[in-house]
Amino acid sequence: MNASDFPRLKNITSAKAAIPPTSEAVPAPRDKHTPDYTWARVAMVERLREQGIIHPKILAAMNTLAREQFVDEALRMRVYDDCSLPIGQGQTLSQPYIVGRMTQLLLSAAIPVKRVLEIGTGSGYQAAVLAHCGCMVFTIERIEAFLAVAKARHRALGLLNIRYLHRDGFKGWPSQAPFDGIIVTAAPAIVPAELKAQLAIGGRLIVPVGEQGETQRLTVITRTENSFHSQQFDAVSFVPMLPGEQS
Ligand code: SAH
Repeated sequence: MNASDFPRLKNITSAKAAIPPTSEAVPAPRDKHTPDYTWARVAMVERLREQGIIHPKILAAMNTLAREQFVDEALRMRVYDDCSLPIGQGQTLSQPYIVGRMTQLLLSAAIPVKRVLEIGTGSGYQAAVLAHCGCMVFTIERIEAFLAVAKARHRALGLLNIRYLHRDGFKGWPSQAPFDGIIVTAAPAIVPAELKAQLAIGGRLIVPVGEQGETQRLTVITRTENSFHSQQFDAVSFVPMLPGEQS
């Protein structure tokens, strides 16, 4: 990673200072039988910082959001570990570092990132992080059952700046375009042309690109006045981006 990834962070000397104290950010457990994940969450945020996630809004969002509410109860013990977790139907919630990394690449665009399109709602955690960062989030999911659950989770957290669409994400959301940022949380074999076309000038598309079983690369496409600029980052492992819709 180089410093030019963070053109809008020049004046920030301490990301730590911007994080609300944990006691304010995390509600107390309801009773003595409710597991308290506060310290696991604090440890996760410390680890993210060491891994290079320095954007204050992202750290604050991940410090505040109860990630355990986005997975089945049986998996909650592991939700703050540095690993991805199953969310049903063969899909996965990315490890905390990848969520932080993709969000940071997205928010480091040279333009203010206000309207964001997410492809692959899944558990709803990535959308919640973006909403918590102050973005207006448009999220598309091909499996309808995921959408209803994610929506209920967001409502319970009071996150109202998210719009949902049951659709094949390869088509994007043309009626809401252009977007300041687009984040794809499943891997296509090549960068979808329709999504590039829905980017605002100066906006970034963050997408893991590659065939299943082969190395996928986190790819950043930036739209310029007349063309697109492509950069490749981390090797990653995502579920495939699939065509069509499912109920
Ligand atoms: N962002 C999610 C990650 C979910 S895993 C989270 O925070 O939990 C990837 C998701 O992408 C799955 O839910 C999968 O159904 C969805 N997906 C795969 N191909 C898609 C497509 N063409 N359009 C929309 N969603 C797609």
